[in-house]
Amino acid sequence: MKRSLAWMVALFLSATALAAQKLPPMPVMVLYTKAVVSQFGSVEGARAQTLAQVQACNASYANSGIPGEYVLVYFGPAAPKYDALDKPGMSYKQVDDVNALFAMDRSAAKLRFTKGAALYSLSMSWVPKSTASGRPHRVQDLGPWAASSVINAGSLLAPCHEWGHAYGSGHDDQHQLAVPGDQFSYARGVVYADGTCDLMAYCDDPQQVISGVRKTWKGRLYGDARHDNVRVIMTNWTRVRANVAKAYLPPK
Ligand SMILES: [Zn+2]
Repeated sequence: MKRSLAWMVALFLSATALAAQKLPPMPVMVLYTKAVVSQFGSVEGARAQTLAQVQACNASYANSGIPGEYVLVYFGPAAPKYDALDKPGMSYKQVDDVNALFAMDRSAAKLRFTKGAALYSLSMSWVPKSTASGRPHRVQDLGPWAASSVINAGSLLAPCHEWGHAYGSGHDDQHQLAVPGDQFSYARGVVYADGTCDLMAYCDDPQQVISGVRKTWKGRLYGDARHDNVRVIMTNWTRVRANVAKAYLPPK
């Protein structure tokens, strides 16, 4: 009897320790333009792609040892004004302008609040593959537009990259290539001879892994003490959830 009680206490303690390592789920909301529905054939097709993006991000976090997961709490149509903006040939500047508009959109904010989403994204079809936009880049900037992002509907890892910025993750600038006149040359990131990088860097073949100290993935080292986005995300996960909730007043 005594022994079984001790065993139960031990079991309880180990379960508590495991639970303590878990981060609370991060609720996300995604709004789509009509062009995204065309791109994937139907609303269900677009939803399946969004779920695949969430799953890819969760897999990336698991690969990186981040004990948190995203949960899609709402998937619905964006306001018609975004349909009009979703056109071929957008530049990064235009994408960022759309994000600024989306971030300050009161109806999107109200929807986010009623659905209980901490992070929200506008899914667009014509955002260039490697060009999306996320705000903010620093947690201390969290304001009413806290964690919105404009994402490329077709790119599996674009949402995960943009949500990474919501915690204050930067672009990994290790092995940077200076490209004169290119404002993002600092962000070319940890690019290896095989053309891969972690998903907070810029390259043609981002891997489903976040940079961390001594983080190896498929035999390569992704990150070091200066490029530790695993730590940034885990440190700010709970704060982002709380700050985003605090940034909005309940809709009237
Ligand atoms: Zn970025």
